[in-house]
Amino acid sequence: MKKPMFVVFVFLFIFSLPCFAAMSKHIVDYRIKAKLTPEEKAVIGYEILTWLNNSDTPVSELQFHLYLNAFKNNRSTFLKERGGISRSIKPDEQNWGYNEIRKIKIKNGADLTTAVEYIQPDDGNKDDQTVMRVLLPEPVLPHKKIILEIEFYAKLPKVFARAGFENNFYMASQWFPKIGVLQEGKWNCHQYHSSSEFFADFGVYEVEITVPEEYVVGATGKRVKEIDNQDGTKTYIYYQEDIHDFAWTACPDFVEFHESYSLDDPPVKTEIILLIHRSHLKLKKRYLDSLKNGIEFYSQNYGAYPYPTITLVDPPLKAAGAGGMEYPTLFTTLGAWFFPKGLLIPEMVTIHEFGHGYWYGMVASNEFEEPWLDEGINSYSEIKAMAKYYGEDRSMLNLGPLKISDFTFQRARVIGSGRLDPILKKSWEFYSGGSYGLNSYSKAALSLLMLERYLGEDIMAMVMKTYFKRWKFKHPTTENFIEVAEDVSKQDLGWFFDQFWRSPDKLDYAIGRLRSTEVKEPEGIFEGQYKTDPKDKEKNVEKIYKNEVSIIRKGELVFPQDVLIIFENGEEIREKWDGKDRWKKFKYLRPYKLKSAQIDPENIMILDIDHMNNSRLMKPNKILPLKHALGLMLDFQKLLTWIGM
Ligand SMILES: [Zn+2]
Repeated sequence: MKKPMFVVFVFLFIFSLPCFAAMSKHIVDYRIKAKLTPEEKAVIGYEILTWLNNSDTPVSELQFHLYLNAFKNNRSTFLKERGGISRSIKPDEQNWGYNEIRKIKIKNGADLTTAVEYIQPDDGNKDDQTVMRVLLPEPVLPHKKIILEIEFYAKLPKVFARAGFENNFYMASQWFPKIGVLQEGKWNCHQYHSSSEFFADFGVYEVEITVPEEYVVGATGKRVKEIDNQDGTKTYIYYQEDIHDFAWTACPDFVEFHESYSLDDPPVKTEIILLIHRSHLKLKKRYLDSLKNGIEFYSQNYGAYPYPTITLVDPPLKAAGAGGMEYPTLFTTLGAWFFPKGLLIPEMVTIHEFGHGYWYGMVASNEFEEPWLDEGINSYSEIKAMAKYYGEDRSMLNLGPLKISDFTFQRARVIGSGRLDPILKKSWEFYSGGSYGLNSYSKAALSLLMLERYLGEDIMAMVMKTYFKRWKFKHPTTENFIEVAEDVSKQDLGWFFDQFWRSPDKLDYAIGRLRSTEVKEPEGIFEGQYKTDPKDKEKNVEKIYKNEVSIIRKGELVFPQDVLIIFENGEEIREKWDGKDRWKKFKYLRPYKLKSAQIDPENIMILDIDHMNNSRLMKPNKILPLKHALGLMLDFQKLLTWIGM
């Protein structure tokens, strides 16, 4: 579309919008024109960025993410950190990806193109060009705006990690020059790491996407206009406020479906858009149903889904590296034509990625620095949603007698792994990608489920609702989450978070010894006299036993213990122990013996790494079947770990 027409259109469009109060503070305003050139596997872009200096200090430099430069060469921080491999797929040597800044200038002002330089705030790797700095001729004063015009060229890599192309499928994500976040006068603009996700300010995006006319397009936000350019191309215009990123996809082999979705309580009205690759059409109902489940679950448990659209993108199998990824109001899922109904990966990925729209999308914490706030809270939500809609014991795998829940899978992942890192760590400082995933996703999710069992389901539900309500669109930190949990539960929970989030140590309590020994009548010589003739003993009416139960703390972490002790005659005793010492003994004199002892009878200690030593019978029973089940889960875990999400 020609520029004057575009301006008229934007003007008309903006003034025809209903007057809603903004949900977020708008720091950025992006107006981007993007043209896909399939022959070059690239996007030619023109960006007008209006940026507000929301601080009290003048700002004399700007910092930008150029994420695609992670795929520029094998010395980028992203590729070095993972040995050049992501999700077991290597980048194609012939198809590196990059962001080239062809021009950057202040609107009606200085050309800054020669002022561009690359910086490496995290690791000093001079070969990494994922962060760009631009020095300004004059500072942006506090609470004033600057408008920049940027011409850029986004060469897409062959897809292996989120963004890129595969044959005629294009995923344009992390594709445009994106300004960092100014916090207390300083730039928070991290390099693109192999395990990091993202952080950005909220604002307005209007993006005009031009593609060959046979391409089906999906994008963040609402499509507000479609233009046939009469030259074999079409232009689609998308608009959305209160978001902090923008992604789009194009492929002639997508089949597009629309359905309106509404919910009464809380009130939700949105349009579901499915873009399913032709080869996966049989998954349509599974995708649609799980997305509806996701919208309902998150709306009811955290807050109403507020955007007018939600777009599900199903990439072709060969582009699985682009699957399972979240963007504002759009996400990619993962499926294959050969997935049996009982393998609930499409459902799980769909619910998980939709759910990110809450923690990554609306709450929008800094995923570089505190990845658990997104992945952990989202995995916790996903486990609960999957259990609700697909069955407590079969929410991941439901193939005849073989049933595994999402919860069991995540727990197997945690107990079967090393403990090299705590949950709270910057995403690129974990020992490995595996340790990042284990802690930020599974362990964080299980720690929240454990907190839920400790506090009670109702209180935890209120914690989560309050956290979302209080912090949506405000970029909270871990401290803000803890504050909400303590406020709502009216308890000091520092001891819980210090141990389970700040330490990699293990939680393991065990029943030690169970002993029931008969208390003998005094026998032998006492004060020069024989006491009790052994023959008299036979006449004793009742035997008395000294019953002893010992509990051992085998791990470093401390958790208050409930103990259930059962005697042979059926008598039950409940004991409490603060769990602080290394062991504790309980002793009882009874005319009967112990039958069993169990710690954690309410099953609160989800993170206890060995549940099999939590109970003991005086007469040992068999535990073999449990061990087999555990082995199977660990195999299944390898498959799911590969998916990564
Ligand atoms: Zn995720």
